[in-house]
Amino acid sequence: MLMELRLAEVIFEHSSEVLMITDAKAHIISVNTAFTHTSGYTASEVLGKNPRLLSSGEHNAAFYRTMWGAIHSNGFWAGEIWDKHKDGHLYPKWLKIIAVKDSEGKATHYVSIATDISVRKANEENIDLLAHYDALTGLPNRTLLHERIKQLISAAQRDKRKFALLFIDLDRFKYVNDSMGHAVGDRLLQAVALSLRNSVRECDTVSRIGGDEFGILLREADIKEAAHVSQLLLDRLLNQPYEIDDIRLTVQASIGISIYPDNGLDIDTLSKHADVAMYRAKEEGRNCFRFFTAEMNARINHLFSMEKDLRLALERSEFYLFFQPQMDLVSNKLCGAEALIRWKHPTKGLISPVEFIPVAEETGQIIAIGEWVLRTACEKIAAWRQQATLPFSVAVNLSIHQFRQPNFAQLIAAVIQEHAIQPGELELEVTESIMLSDTQVALDFISAMREMGLKLSIDDFGTGYSSLSYLKKMPVHKLKIDRSFVREINIDPNDEAIVRSIIGLAHQFNLQVIAEGVETQEQQDFLRELGCNEIQGFFYGKPLPEQEFLSFVQAESQAFNGTKNDDH
Ligand code: C2E
Ligand code: MG
Ligand code: MG
Repeated sequence: MLMELRLAEVIFEHSSEVLMITDAKAHIISVNTAFTHTSGYTASEVLGKNPRLLSSGEHNAAFYRTMWGAIHSNGFWAGEIWDKHKDGHLYPKWLKIIAVKDSEGKATHYVSIATDISVRKANEENIDLLAHYDALTGLPNRTLLHERIKQLISAAQRDKRKFALLFIDLDRFKYVNDSMGHAVGDRLLQAVALSLRNSVRECDTVSRIGGDEFGILLREADIKEAAHVSQLLLDRLLNQPYEIDDIRLTVQASIGISIYPDNGLDIDTLSKHADVAMYRAKEEGRNCFRFFTAEMNARINHLFSMEKDLRLALERSEFYLFFQPQMDLVSNKLCGAEALIRWKHPTKGLISPVEFIPVAEETGQIIAIGEWVLRTACEKIAAWRQQATLPFSVAVNLSIHQFRQPNFAQLIAAVIQEHAIQPGELELEVTESIMLSDTQVALDFISAMREMGLKLSIDDFGTGYSSLSYLKKMPVHKLKIDRSFVREINIDPNDEAIVRSIIGLAHQFNLQVIAEGVETQEQQDFLRELGCNEIQGFFYGKPLPEQEFLSFVQAESQAFNGTKNDDH
């Protein structure tokens, strides 16, 4: 018996497994050499203590509850657990705890047997690393890129989002490799990898998919976003020469882009199309990017060149305001004007706001342009106050992008003060989208405008989402019936019904109504009959440059006085 005990002691001491015995109250009563090896604690440091001193803090209370639950009910527990070494580092071990019970089934001791599994874990991670990452650049490889695309497809499908896949091929990389050697080539690839990684957001994936080919997955990107990133990448690569062994190397690339879902719904199609686009970029001169479809390329070219021209337009004072008169249907008098922007492009001539305002909105340039419109309109109001013979208000269109600017209300207040604009002289036209964005913000804005004596009208009414509930909350002044309903008002009974309802609705809410795009006498008469308050359109007057508009105002005033005099 003594011999058996002695044998057990030797086995305990020299076992390569980490062994620890506690009493029923969980006081450590014995540990072996392997324990000291893995935990850093000698026997004397832990005897009498609770094994809690090994705990890493990585597991929550529920974890330990489950563990003890199993020991109490099954007599043992086994699993992976993280412990803390005496020097503070954490390490994983595979642990089995066995309850030793007396003849009555009461636990008298707990024996824990553990193996340090850090090495195995590291190997597993290494295998994962090898399987998913490129050894040279440390970037995700094609396999991981595909996994990410797959995940993104299901997320994008669910949230109806777009994303972009970019294939980037370095131009003439083979030449570097052949003439300067593979070592230089490798270091160049590493440098390029870093610069690509630093040019996109954290959530985007940059991967190396082959020799000198990289793939970038841009989460949430439409064609504009993808084009901007591509241009940025090309500029960065070109403008940052890489210094490798005292050799200065510049890199050019060709980029092909496909957009989900426009250019494909699955990995294969998206990849194939990004590839086709990349070859087109190579064919068409390299150092450029191309989308999969010709139409996308045309759109982005148009957008980019217009963006460039718009930047110059403000500097070169190429914008003008035209003014379109508005008439009161009861008094037949001029009652206001809408300021409409015009762009006189040096080579392309007059460009319609329908063409450039959406671009300005997309590029953010609407903020500066909108401010110019507001300032210019207020300047004109102040200047005309003396000359003009009829009192009227001038309406200025606001874009939702301006409205979203913090301090927009303060900007308006400042401009108004600068030109001493009086209540009723300035009107702001907003679209329904503003009403439907953050309600509280919209409400605060409208209240601020009212306090300044500015009237607010809702432009293109009926074409938006037409959630009418905002009308009861928002103290706006006027609805502008969109011209699409006015066009066939006396032909299409549906349009008639819509216009009739809008007028009824407006009056119910004590709002004024103005109809846009009135082109004929018939339309005007019909609108008057329906109780519409005002009209604006080619029939009464087209948008006119300032001088012609002032002549129009004068003629109106004289005609009106003339009729008035005739009456007496
Ligand atoms: P909108 O605010 O609805 O302006 C009315 C548009 O209808 C003007 O087009 C005007 O010329 C046109 N129009 C007026 N009467 C008639 C008519 O009888 N028949 C027809 N067919 N059209 C008529 P415009 O000047 O080309 O402006 C188009 C749009 O561009 C405007 O629509 C407005 O949304 C935007 N816009 C114009 N100026 C500005 C501006 O300064 N800022 C902002 N954010 N947008 C502006
Ligand atoms: Mg308008
Ligand atoms: Mg309109």
